[in-house]
Amino acid sequence: MDKVKTYQNFIDGKWTAPRSGRYYPDINPADDRDIVGNFPLSDKEDADDAVAAAHRAFAAWSQMLPSEREKCIERFVVLLDQNRQRIGEALCREEGKTLKEAQGEPARGVVECRYFLGEGQRLEGITMPSDRPGVMSIAARVPIGVVAAIAPWNFPFLTPLRKIIPALVTGNTVVFKPAYDTPHCGVLLMELFEKAGLPPGVVNMVIGRGSVMGDAISGHPLVRGITFTGSTSVGRRINTMAAGHFAKVQLEMGGKNPAIVADYRDLDHAAAQIAAAAFAVTGQRCTSISRLIVLREHAEVLEERIAEKMKGYVLGNGMDPKVTMGPVVNGAAGEAIMAYIQSARDAGAVVKLGGRRLTGGAFDRGFYIEPTLITDVTPGMKVAIEEIFGPVLVSIKVDSFDEAMAVANDTEYGLAASLFSDNLGYIYRFQREIETGMAHVNHGTVTDGCMPFGGVKGSGLGAFSKGATNKDFYMTYKVNYIKYLP
Ligand code: NAP
Ligand code: MG
Repeated sequence: MDKVKTYQNFIDGKWTAPRSGRYYPDINPADDRDIVGNFPLSDKEDADDAVAAAHRAFAAWSQMLPSEREKCIERFVVLLDQNRQRIGEALCREEGKTLKEAQGEPARGVVECRYFLGEGQRLEGITMPSDRPGVMSIAARVPIGVVAAIAPWNFPFLTPLRKIIPALVTGNTVVFKPAYDTPHCGVLLMELFEKAGLPPGVVNMVIGRGSVMGDAISGHPLVRGITFTGSTSVGRRINTMAAGHFAKVQLEMGGKNPAIVADYRDLDHAAAQIAAAAFAVTGQRCTSISRLIVLREHAEVLEERIAEKMKGYVLGNGMDPKVTMGPVVNGAAGEAIMAYIQSARDAGAVVKLGGRRLTGGAFDRGFYIEPTLITDVTPGMKVAIEEIFGPVLVSIKVDSFDEAMAVANDTEYGLAASLFSDNLGYIYRFQREIETGMAHVNHGTVTDGCMPFGGVKGSGLGAFSKGATNKDFYMTYKVNYIKYLP
């Protein structure tokens, strides 16, 4: 194998070694012999340097004509489009999802970037006739300042893009912290910004442990907004740090997303949609369906059909085109998922399909867990309450639609939910009463690229992302008055 490459932080337009001089190896989750690269173990001081650079760059970038900023970002989008194949392959190697899933990220990224470039032409404010003679008043939208973008590993290319591009289009500067497990995708992104000729300091990246430098970023007084995607516990910490200096937050956090099935004629379609939503990206999506809540009369047939779909998954290294499910991201995540499956057995639930870690041959080089369906789960069980973030679907039987809604809402989370039903009354009630940011009827939890995205309760706080709603996070107002004296 080639010599392992060492990568750096990207601060003020320069590739910069961490002050500690320390690095860590990033390992391919599908093959532990394959080291993707060595990456910086940054400290608080590196984060401070990045914030300072972003702060220096803010004055010029925020005052630049939007059309000039747009040209820079447009160059980036063209490069992104040209490099999709290469990025997809690197992403598959670093994160472990299948090549097809990995290639979806830059492809979708191009579409979403183009949409947000359009939003850049609609940074409209508010004007009104004044109630005083000779007075003109304009509420203009203005950028907030330095934005920290903190991202998870599960969509290591798309999630950072969804944060950085809107920040730049609206005139902010950025300090980006990629997840510890996926720094290489961060490096690829920065390389494209560098090639696109973005002015130094407009986008900066510090790599390392969130537990070491996270507080330094989200607690920094010059950071005016933090856009975060990750777990609810880290989101809570960031919210506390931000409150100390009144920084804005956009928090996208965990989920325990239900799919309710009640009075639906096409159980086969429901099974296909639920299995896809539960097991895509090895179940490591924030919007994964993880709880099936089904009327007792449908349960047996539906569970059987879902199990049939699950048997079709081929596990292995995602680079192999035959493979349809990759490993989980790392050993610690794998152990935690296996402990959840065991807790369900201990609580009296039934592992209907899967439930094992695969071993032998290539499977020993990563952490591969069979797609798992657990039935006879009751609402109080740990697997019914906590986010598992792996290829595990639990099935809870209920006796009425009222009970289904009560179980669906009895969670700290509120990200996404699905209902499969032909009953208009159920559909109406679901869309009104489900306590989630996104409510899907008769399909899984796939979203549109340009629609607002977000959650409520423990799943989200602040403006919804992706769509036009993003402007409410990345911008504030300045209300200007002019008095004319004749
Ligand atoms: P995580 O542990 O919360 O980490 C997310 C990011 O926060 C990582 O970059 C992490 O750095 C960083 N971080 C850790 N501690 C920090 C601190 N004290 N201050 C600031 N940053 C800190 O989440 P994950 O395990 O990577 O991702 C899985 C979670 O993300 C799941 O809960 C999933 O539901 C959620 N998620 C939500 C959405 C959504 O849109 N709602 C989308 C995708 C994922 P390190 O990597 O260095 O620890
Ligand atoms: Mg890794």
